[in-house]
Amino acid sequence: MKIPTEPIGSIPRPLSLLEAIGDRDGTDPALTPLYEAAIRDTIERFEATGSPVVTDGEQRKYHNFWTYAVHGLENTAPDGFKIPFSAGHTRRMPRLTAGPFRYKRTADRYLDLALSYAHVPVKQAVISPSALSLMYPPEEIPDYTREQFIDDLLREHEAEVRACLLKGAHKVQIDFTEGRLAIKMDSSGNLLQSFIDLNNLALSRFNAEERMRIGVHTCPGGDRDSTHSAEVGYAKLLPHLFQLMAGNFYIALAGEKNRLEVLKTIRAHMKPDHRVFVGVVAPMDPAIETPEEVCERVLEAAEYIPVTQLGTTDDCGFSPFSDDTSRTRDTAFAKIRARVAGTAMASELLRDR
Ligand SMILES: [Zn+2]
Repeated sequence: MKIPTEPIGSIPRPLSLLEAIGDRDGTDPALTPLYEAAIRDTIERFEATGSPVVTDGEQRKYHNFWTYAVHGLENTAPDGFKIPFSAGHTRRMPRLTAGPFRYKRTADRYLDLALSYAHVPVKQAVISPSALSLMYPPEEIPDYTREQFIDDLLREHEAEVRACLLKGAHKVQIDFTEGRLAIKMDSSGNLLQSFIDLNNLALSRFNAEERMRIGVHTCPGGDRDSTHSAEVGYAKLLPHLFQLMAGNFYIALAGEKNRLEVLKTIRAHMKPDHRVFVGVVAPMDPAIETPEEVCERVLEAAEYIPVTQLGTTDDCGFSPFSDDTSRTRDTAFAKIRARVAGTAMASELLRDR
């Protein structure tokens, strides 16, 4: 039994690309050759790690994983929802000012180029409907109700996921980092449950076979060596998370203080048709894990998760926000190499299970 291993998505952008973007609009056509060179280099280096599944490193998500689809929309203002990080800074999303809501760009466009360079399967991350739902302001927009917005949002999201599946994405990963954040914002759990319900409305539009290729990523957020919700325990999130109608779950674990508690909670709430990819390397930690350390983490997880339902991943992207340079490209690929080698070692030891 070979244990599958997949990345989350982002790789730090080359500094030359970040400098070229500078204060410019990231869609400036003059940047196209730089993006293409960055994507080609990312995929070559990814494949050199032995990773059986790669991404384009999100080189073209020139703001971040959260708002790539909506940046530059005319019916928005910059003063939207704020995410406070533990390092003291905040990230902000645009606020919707008028209907109708449409994506400005969809992630399947990134797949076209990645697939043309790659020799192994490529996965694609997209943002969750629940994250984008935070764009609608607390007060109602005149002539455009929240219900109309949600209808538009779900249609746009479904079209994006469907296009990625059709183009041959190995998996489509829905980034749901606001899950733990929702518990921090509303300890009653109502906000989290509303996020789960909304995302399930989207997932219910796909059939069982399609949902086997759809996954959900959860983590405490990662930006400039800090998180937005690490203090919220998984015990509050996972019972809700596993209600999501997805086949795959990508759960940050390597950076957790009490991994065994998390694994027990996973065991208690995962379902028989779920594949759980646990994080075995931590982008937040500058030290590079050894394959042996990774192997040990996989063996530990296999005590709680049936090997037939186990996979490994990175805890998070290596720079979900494109200007985050706290990790280098070299470090990211070294950690990925350790994930791949350590998972292979564990697969060998667990092959009869
Ligand atoms: Zn993450």
